[in-house]
Amino acid sequence: MSDDDRAGRLMHGRPGLERGDPVALPLTMASMFHLPGDPAGAPGYGRVDNPVWEEVERQLSILEGAPALLFPSGMGAISAALMAGLKAGDRVLLPSDGYYTTRLLADRVLARFGVAAAYRPTARYGEGGFDGFAAVFVETPSNPGLDLCDLAAICAAVRAAGGVTLVDNTTMTPFGQRPLELGADVVVASDTKAPSGQSDVILGHLATRDAALFEAAKDWRKLSGAIPGPFEAWQLNRSLPTLEMRFARMCDSAEALAPRLAAHPAVRALRYPGLPDDPGHALARSQMARFGFLIGLTLKDRDTAERFIEAAGLTPATSFGGVHSSAECRARWGDDVPGGFVRLSVGCEPVADLSARIVAALDEIA
Ligand SMILES: *Cc1c(COP(=O)(O)O)cnc(C)c1O
Repeated sequence: MSDDDRAGRLMHGRPGLERGDPVALPLTMASMFHLPGDPAGAPGYGRVDNPVWEEVERQLSILEGAPALLFPSGMGAISAALMAGLKAGDRVLLPSDGYYTTRLLADRVLARFGVAAAYRPTARYGEGGFDGFAAVFVETPSNPGLDLCDLAAICAAVRAAGGVTLVDNTTMTPFGQRPLELGADVVVASDTKAPSGQSDVILGHLATRDAALFEAAKDWRKLSGAIPGPFEAWQLNRSLPTLEMRFARMCDSAEALAPRLAAHPAVRALRYPGLPDDPGHALARSQMARFGFLIGLTLKDRDTAERFIEAAGLTPATSFGGVHSSAECRARWGDDVPGGFVRLSVGCEPVADLSARIVAALDEIA
């Protein structure tokens, strides 16, 4: 299925409507379902069944090209994938420069259950091979440094070594990169970011073609009780049909902005996989459909960076992927980046105005 087919199918709404049914998905808030007699084959209890989840999972399956499961956050999906797939004595490999909460999960929780974590930087992820790892967790481009690694090569090497590859695809979405088609076993993502785009919901999902892993993750959701709220799921249902449009606009704008920012004298370093001289450019061309909407720019120092964010009128917030452009200094969370490093999430504003505002702010701090 092409991206156009996927986008079109999401636009067409839910199938199987009867005459008189509402076109929009009804919000079903239910803990109990009317269930006399034999319970088989009908929704029974709200921790296990909800028609809104089912519809969102149908949408996510179209996006991912694989069965998908909805979770109450990106971390909910990541912890489900790890808890469902690992056992005591296993070793897991994680990126040292990826989303930091995943590392905390490994160090504070998985370690207590006898799962040891090892770390490598994304840019050199393949070095040293994958022998002895039950699971290899990959994030490319990494958040926030935007380093890349070769998904197809890593997935093949992990498989040959007898492990499973999990890819956090949050920074790219299925319209920017398709890890399952490059050989990954599981893809996880935070739908809090671009898939929602409205900055008002926390959700996540995983998708896999491995039926045993899928069932184990579903069982984890049921047994841990960490289930998505029907209302949040319904909010995501409204956003997914416009993801393709929003993502395309965000990537177009980021591509237009990146060279202008890179050429500005106030910018000391800039990372964007779409720039021909970016270290990840060749890989980005080979494994990504778009170059994404995140730009990493390094200014003189933390103070200069904070002044830039304010002067440019960027939403000063953590997280990314909203329709409004946002930015933050990642050093404030302890990420291993320079104090003046700004992660800029390019939104859906008309690009001429956005670009003028950002360049004017850089002129001001230069
Ligand atoms: C935000 C994020 C997560 C966590 O998602 P939540 O929805 O906040 O739980 C995981 N991975 C990456 C790369 C992220 O950016």
